[in-house]
Amino acid sequence: MALTSRPRGTNDIIPGEIELWHELEGKIRQVCHAYGYHELRTPIFEHTELFQRGIGDTTDIVEKEMYTFVDRGERSITLRPEGTAPLVRAYIENNLGSGALPVKLYYYGPMFRYERPQAGRYRQFTQFGFEALGSSDPLLDVEAIALPIDLYKSCGLSGFQVELNSIGCAECRSVYRKELTAHFEPHADNLCRSCQGRLHRNPLRLLDCKVESCQVIAKDAPKITEYLCPDCADHFSQVQKYLDTLGISYVLNPRLVRGLDYYTRTVFEVTSSELGSQNAIGAGGRYDGLVQELGGKETPAVGFAVGVDRLLLALKNQGKLQLSPSGPALYLVHFGGETKHKAAELAQGLRGRGLWIELDYADRSIKAQMKAANRLNSQYVLIIGEDELAKNQAVLRNMGDGQEESVALDELEQLITIVGACGK
Ligand code: AMP
Repeated sequence: MALTSRPRGTNDIIPGEIELWHELEGKIRQVCHAYGYHELRTPIFEHTELFQRGIGDTTDIVEKEMYTFVDRGERSITLRPEGTAPLVRAYIENNLGSGALPVKLYYYGPMFRYERPQAGRYRQFTQFGFEALGSSDPLLDVEAIALPIDLYKSCGLSGFQVELNSIGCAECRSVYRKELTAHFEPHADNLCRSCQGRLHRNPLRLLDCKVESCQVIAKDAPKITEYLCPDCADHFSQVQKYLDTLGISYVLNPRLVRGLDYYTRTVFEVTSSELGSQNAIGAGGRYDGLVQELGGKETPAVGFAVGVDRLLLALKNQGKLQLSPSGPALYLVHFGGETKHKAAELAQGLRGRGLWIELDYADRSIKAQMKAANRLNSQYVLIIGEDELAKNQAVLRNMGDGQEESVALDELEQLITIVGACGK
């Protein structure tokens, strides 16, 4: 059993599906290019402390979801549960902030969280995220929303919604936290166990608890936006003005606080109507204190992370991102012996030019080989018969229209011109 089943909450991406991933990855690279973001690759595992400090000790991720182990050198290591803290660590370590600011970076790869698996929620999942470091311009907050929207649109996704909030800075939050604790305290007995634990440590998290009894109490809680200091209020109003200028629609959600401690000011989440309970396809926000928290200079920053698995799920549910069927450029049909050697030699030459070439490895009948070429959706078939080979000739058949022509086998360029024109 253990040998033939993958660990719970993980997925195999098999041929037939991987092409969709490749297509999406191409779109991700395109949209990052358009906004001037460059890829940064960090290790899959980091020192555990990075996430404890970076994400926050009282968050679900750090409290219960990390894959942490002690390595043979007695170091505590954690498989990365998210990409921002590692990216910021790499930004500081490689001194990437020494030139012109802002620095725009993106990451793409697997993340690991010990969560209860269900549709759209896995223990290994893929995130694409991007971060702009070194500027507090509200326009960058808005671009952090515009970029994923461009990506969703380029994939053909519809039915998504942007939710927006500001959770202020440390200053406005300290006043708000007191008000919030005072609101929840009289109801402490009716809160779920997690919220009871968080009431004094991290009361903001009580606002986005999914348990119904907690939601009822949270409904009348004071709103953070009423406690914003003048600077944070001005920043938030500028964000909304830029969103209007760019024609990006959004809804204000005063209960949106996000599960990671590092956020300041603007937070946002994009949800899809195509998904069930796990409907968030991306989320992000500003985190002006994180670089300093992790040992760097004071550096404002803003970013966003897209759940790639969920985005693909939403696209599948909408019947979008369908691939045009692809197949080999050429299938070489041979009669064994010398003709197979010729086929092997031709395949070698054509593959060297980047063309997808297939041939028979089982010395099957011509009929079976033609069938195989058809099944693979091959664009051309080259039939190398013994008599033709003696004359250095072969018959090239266009599988689309059935037209046949004789080609010279020592004229590789001629073959490439015809076959290569149909794509790779
Ligand atoms: P977060 O890092 O929690 O802000 O998540 C950002 C995005 O990653 C979410 O909006 C989801 O689309 C995706 N995501 C987070 N956790 C998971 C998971 N366990 N499985 C699949 N996707 C996830």
